[in-house]
Amino acid sequence: MKKQILGAMCAIILLLAVILSSCSATQPQSASFPSMDTLMTVKVYGGDNDLCDRLQKRIEALDATLDATDENSDIYQLNQNGTVDVSGDTADILARSLQLSKALDHSFDITVYPAVKAWGFPSGDYRVPDDAELKKLAEKIDDTAVTSDNNTYTLPRDVMIDLGAVAKGYAADQCDTILKEGHAAAAVLNLGGTVKLYGKKPDGKRFSVGVADPDNPAGYFGYLSCEDGVVATSGGYERYFERDGKRYIHILDPTTAKPVKNGILSVTILCNDGTAADALSTALFVMGLDKATEYYRAHRDFDFIILTDTHDLYITEGIADDFTLSKGYDYKIQSVEIATAPTSVSEASQ
Ligand code: ADP
Ligand code: MG
Repeated sequence: MKKQILGAMCAIILLLAVILSSCSATQPQSASFPSMDTLMTVKVYGGDNDLCDRLQKRIEALDATLDATDENSDIYQLNQNGTVDVSGDTADILARSLQLSKALDHSFDITVYPAVKAWGFPSGDYRVPDDAELKKLAEKIDDTAVTSDNNTYTLPRDVMIDLGAVAKGYAADQCDTILKEGHAAAAVLNLGGTVKLYGKKPDGKRFSVGVADPDNPAGYFGYLSCEDGVVATSGGYERYFERDGKRYIHILDPTTAKPVKNGILSVTILCNDGTAADALSTALFVMGLDKATEYYRAHRDFDFIILTDTHDLYITEGIADDFTLSKGYDYKIQSVEIATAPTSVSEASQ
């Protein structure tokens, strides 16, 4: 009899445990906090109870070491002193950024910072540098001049670094590790224009990510339905100023040190690698539609949605069927096909 009671009690405890765990998997924990110059919202289904807290702390720690405007950060020290010993995250993200820049033909280049400052973007004291100043600034944008020796990074004179175009994507990748370690079932992390999707939602449905309308950034011109991965968007609407009727945006062309003006309003990337997604969104914006399409056809390990100022939408074939236009938008959608053979060395040599 005692055995039967014990058995029944065990069964009840087990049932309770199952009910409780399924509750936490359907009722997400969430948190919102400012970091990396934007508002972030994290939502986690299942896993350890303190996951949101851990994600927030990790992102804040990254911000503290990577923010070029924070006097205590590694990057500030590097920019001020021209050299710094780095380890951990700073070493990782610097190495990744330099690699990505090379792969992206330097359309993404972390040494744009003196130009970003000259235009007044970090401080908000906006100004339009004259042609002579821009020429000088452009000459100094060259991340191949950054040297490293056993994690001691050194910059030439007048060169400074800004990780603003990759920090959120890198943060998304670091959050992935925390979610895995904390046994999360699923998560949606909105890191301000960079959205990390993790696992399977409790209702079994795919995630739906809104793509901001550059003409009205509080709204979405469409939705992308997707599973795991990072969706990163770069747009002129995120930060810009206007002078004499002209708009100057915060994404600069490293060859001219000038804000990009090529008819693109926004670039959205879907890629499993968050750091790459973030660098790609900036780089493809700089490249313009034709070069961006060429780059996609040569690499294929990501997808894009590009919106032009004529309200044409270019969507790569990998996600064309997963995108839905919002009600009231009549943008013309063109599918970007993989028309040419890949040119990566490994495939060419097979
Ligand atoms: P956001 O930070 O709004 O998500 P991006 O990821 O495109 O947008 O990053 C833009 C930021 O990166 C700028 O504010 C500037 O600090 C820096 N930046 C601008 N142009 C470039 C570039 N060509 N390569 C690398 N970083 C850039
Ligand atoms: Mg970016």
